[in-house]
Parts: sequence; structure tokens; C-alpha cells
Amino acid sequence: MNSYLLGVINKQTGRYESIISVDKPNEYKCIDCGGDLILRKGEKNFQSFIHKNKFPACSYFKTPTELMLKTDALLHLKELLDTNKVTIYSKCSICKFNFETKLPKFITTVKNLNSVDCVDETNKTLCKFVFGINAEATPIDVPIYRININELILRITTSYATKKVELVCEDLIICDKCQARYR
Ligand SMILES: [Zn+2]
Ligand SMILES: [Zn+2]
Repeated sequence: MNSYLLGVINKQTGRYESIISVDKPNEYKCIDCGGDLILRKGEKNFQSFIHKNKFPACSYFKTPTELMLKTDALLHLKELLDTNKVTIYSKCSICKFNFETKLPKFITTVKNLNSVDCVDETNKTLCKFVFGINAEATPIDVPIYRININELILRITTSYATKKVELVCEDLIICDKCQARYR
């Protein structure tokens, strides 16, 4: 987990930004403590954030807790969904092929730290993204897409250059072809 590059909040836009995409002229604040940050540009794209004020001490970038990592990942997934930079796939349990999941038109919201909820203009939930197969989810009659948090982290750190992240849900499906064949 420690190879994951934690994100920040752009103070002008209020949006999550990955450390890979941040720009020095912008002002950023810490997701956890809300404190102002200073971007240190390093050699060869290596850059890091430090808190402007050392007190009260914040462990976000140095030793993030599991909850901090999860919060960061949720905000990152929300941002990827909002900016159409992620494609969600589901694997067929029979033919093992991945199929792109057609998502409805939605607005994302993080109502609590367990899911990214996709809602319509009337705030009706259309589908949800949760982390982990054991993620507790209230039984509701909308699709729930389970995303492996480690996979999200891995994809973001390794393939950010392509600007589009591909994620495969943990839930298996039976594709149309297989349904027709084995019905
Ligand atoms: Zn902080
Ligand atoms: Zn299939």
C-alpha cells in the first residue's frame, strides 16, 4: 500500500487531484486535516507534499492509516468517474471474458465513507461503488459494483500515463452469449 501516491484537494476547485497531475501554481489542502500544503517538485516527476504548518502534526503523507487510504481511494474513484477517466468491466464466470459495464448517466456523491454513490438529478441512487468483496452494503435494488482497493491503487500508480483507468469488478456476471448458450 505504501507505494500509493496520496492525493490532495485543489483549494480553487474543491476537487481531488492525484499527486501525479498537480501543478505548482495551484493551492492545495490536505484531505485529512484540511491544512495548507506546499508542493515540492523533485527530480524526474518526483514530487511530494508537505504541510505548511508542522503543528498539529498530520500523518497523511508519511504514515497514512487504513481509513486515510480508503478515503483517498474513494475520492480518487469519484474524481475518475466524474471526469470519465475510468472504465468499469465485469468478468463472465463462464467464458472469463471482461465486458464493459454500461453505466447510467449520473452525478457522484460520497454520502459516507463506504461507497461512491451514483445518483440522478432527484438524488435517487442509480448504482454504487464499494471497496472490497466484504464491503457491507445495505440490500438495495440498485447495482453494486465491488472494486478491489488494491487494484485501484495499483492501476493508478502504474498506468496513470494512459489517462484512463480500467477496473474489473469483483462480482462475476454471466454474459449474454453464455446465457444464451447454457440456458
Ligand atoms: Zn494533513
Ligand atoms: Zn461469457
